Amino acid sequence: MEYARAGSLDEALLLLERAGASALAGGTDLAGQIDRGLAAPELIVDISTVGLEEITPTDDGGLMIGATVTLARLASATELASYAAIATAAGLTASPLLRNQGTIGGNLCQRTRCWYYRGLEWNCWLAGGDTCYAQIGEHSKHNLQPGDCISAHPSDMAPALAACAATVIARSTAGERELAVLDLYRRPSQDNRSLLALRPGELLTHVRLPAPPEASTYRRLGERRAFSFPLVSVAAARHGDRITVAATGVANVPVALDPTDPLRDLPGNPQTGWKRRALHTLVQRATDDVG
Ligand SMILES: Cc1cc2nc3c(=O)[nH]c(=O)nc-3n(C[C@H](O)[C@H](O)[C@H](O)COP(=O)(O)OP(=O)(O)OC[C@H]3O[C@@H](n4cnc5c(N)ncnc54)[C@H](O)[C@@H]3O)c2cc1C
Ligand code: SF4
Repeated sequence: MEYARAGSLDEALLLLERAGASALAGGTDLAGQIDRGLAAPELIVDISTVGLEEITPTDDGGLMIGATVTLARLASATELASYAAIATAAGLTASPLLRNQGTIGGNLCQRTRCWYYRGLEWNCWLAGGDTCYAQIGEHSKHNLQPGDCISAHPSDMAPALAACAATVIARSTAGERELAVLDLYRRPSQDNRSLLALRPGELLTHVRLPAPPEASTYRRLGERRAFSFPLVSVAAARHGDRITVAATGVANVPVALDPTDPLRDLPGNPQTGWKRRALHTLVQRATDDVG
């Protein structure tokens, strides 16, 4: 395995063109992926020194957040004072050590925590095998959406950013494109088991926030109040009369929900049915917060 510390964004993109190359930001998830045999990059491209660590105001009253801005910085950034959902989500993510090291780009691109996927003894469907072990075993923390894989999306940041109408900028040597945060994700298929819609060689370079909503909030349920992945979490934001709601922990990917019918298309099953009640309650509380 080779390691290269890129000195500029252009150098990083050139290195990431190589087959078998992976971006390394804070390393808090990539190290675990390598340790568990889920990733075996031939080339690790360290992007920590390519100039993506700034938060910059934009002309339309929003912000551009570099992909290597840490979660700790987001939790305390004065620039985010009007984006309560995002700052709250960053402050609730993981632990102080992980927030100091983990970045916004890495948080959005982290892999699922499904214990079969992460376990050394399994090669489940999402990892390229033919069986979803969760569906024939213990899956009380999995998702509510039927499918080949019932893993739950783990990022605290994705729903908070989505509710605030954020977009992400993905760049490669072939050019740049801008996607709504939820379009960064895809449901896995037989031919492509990835949960990310990034193309080969693409790096997430920035998160763009439009002008802040009138109000926003982030509500989460974990096994503990701190240092615990979200089991179900909900972000809500009010833009004028319109309330947007997004959630994590209830599908393979973060999802937008209809605030008047949040359980639609999320039937769950006997083991995960409790998440429907949790989701319903969190949506009610979050919409009350911003109403
Ligand atoms: C014990 C533990 C508890 C945790 N608890 C929570 C929690 O409660 N809530 C939560 O949301 N998360 C939680 N996490 C996940 C944590 O937030 C992520 O590991 C972290 O944010 C990843 O950021 P990083 O910079 O370290 O990414 P890395 O580990 O460097 O990268 C993660 C993945 O993203 C890719 N990547 C990184 N940056 C980019 C980029 N700019 N463009 C494209 N791809 C990129 C890497 O190739 C890799 O596949 C936890 C992690 C651990 C280990
Ligand atoms: S839920 Fe997904 S990640 Fe977990 S065992 Fe099933 S296929 Fe694998």
